[in-house]
Amino acid sequence: MIGNNCIGCKACETVCPQNCIDFSTVPSKINVNNCLHCGNCMTVCPQNAVVKIG
Ligand code: SF4
Ligand code: SF4
Repeated sequence: MIGNNCIGCKACETVCPQNCIDFSTVPSKINVNNCLHCGNCMTVCPQNAVVKIG
């Protein structure tokens, strides 16, 4: 999931192979149904806002 420290910078948008991150809100949201758990968004996020759950 994406935590409250997300600033909506969209750095994760370009690295997501599934394009499954929704930027209509801040924090942005991962559409988990399409997420491959590849970790790209976690690696690129300047805010360390992406956290693994489960
Ligand atoms: S883990 Fe991968 S597929 Fe899932 S939201 Fe992040 S970049 Fe996209
Ligand atoms: S890279 Fe991080 S701070 Fe930027 S939109 Fe994605 S989750 Fe939010």
